[in-house]
Amino acid sequence: MKIETLFIDRSIPRDEEVDYILSRLAPAPQTVDSSRVVYDHINQAADPILTAKKTLYITRNRGAVIKECPGTCEYTCCDYTILHSGTFCTMDCSYCILQAYFHPPVLRYFAGLDMLKQALDRVFKQEKIFRIGTGEYTDSLIWEPVSLLPRFLVDTFSGQDNCLLELKTKTVHIDSLLGLDHNRNTVLAWSVNTPEIIRSEEKGTASLSARLKAAQKAEAAGYPLAFHFDPVVIYPGCETGYLRVIRSIFTHVNPENIVWISIGTFRFMPKLKPIIEQRFRDSTICYGEFIPGLDNKMRYFKPLRLSIYQAMVSEIKRIAPDVFVYFCMEDREIWQKTMNFFPENDGELGCLLDKSAARHCGLNNRYLK
Ligand code: SF4
Repeated sequence: MKIETLFIDRSIPRDEEVDYILSRLAPAPQTVDSSRVVYDHINQAADPILTAKKTLYITRNRGAVIKECPGTCEYTCCDYTILHSGTFCTMDCSYCILQAYFHPPVLRYFAGLDMLKQALDRVFKQEKIFRIGTGEYTDSLIWEPVSLLPRFLVDTFSGQDNCLLELKTKTVHIDSLLGLDHNRNTVLAWSVNTPEIIRSEEKGTASLSARLKAAQKAEAAGYPLAFHFDPVVIYPGCETGYLRVIRSIFTHVNPENIVWISIGTFRFMPKLKPIIEQRFRDSTICYGEFIPGLDNKMRYFKPLRLSIYQAMVSEIKRIAPDVFVYFCMEDREIWQKTMNFFPENDGELGCLLDKSAARHCGLNNRYLK
């Protein structure tokens, strides 16, 4: 984490958590009474998005700590729960939706492990399974080298039996987690892509081979694993590339330890396109056969999606028939023509994921619907 400017909210108490993060970052913190100072610093920069990636604001989450994932009703969604622990990212993927999502984008760390614990304790008391992730508005593990948060979460989730924590990343920052007593309630998950796409579109992220070696280390430490092919990008030779990545996953880790693999082709809100064109002049990711989807995002023309999905799913099933594979935000036809089934009913995909979670993790089967 290369932070050049560090702001801290005056209302944050100086405790072990805050002292830890400050001790790991070079710049002296500037105490602010209002987030306006942070916003102005970012907005006045020549490249606000790049500046935001080097400016950390330690503050408190004043909204909901735990919330449902905002999937769209037009596509099958997986009933995921988001733990809102921070925003934005220090890595720089051309396609990152967060560039267009926050105005301005701000790299925020939400201090307050006590508050987080209280919110989680309420969820731990419920009689149902929750799949909870921190990787929706940030990368879950960019924080590991500088904060106590990932360790705290793994420890906290280890002592209950109805919630799975998924830490999703493109980094290899897992060292402080390896020795923890996780009770198999934390899934370490990697977003994966072809080496070509990682090189051209995922600036600052770990290479594919480094990610897979980290997954191997996590497996040796007893963690359940997950992999997310998102976004799958269509380019000449992509099918060969993605099939190679699939084979590589299975030469590194045992399919029995994989809780799920998700696949989703590249899709984007139209307002992301000018940002990509301006910030990533060599990127061709937005140019292809796209059509607007039901959620107003641009998606590859369906026959293109279908073809790459069919190739990828059949390769996964050939090597590891029991690994649960699902699509992120896809429709009936894609499911039906690729998987031969469609999770039609409300909550059906969520139930299937819960079952896979219960099979691989330390969750109690009695919470299954
Ligand atoms: S790693 Fe994820 S959050 Fe970070 S820039 Fe890339 S897409 Fe965005």
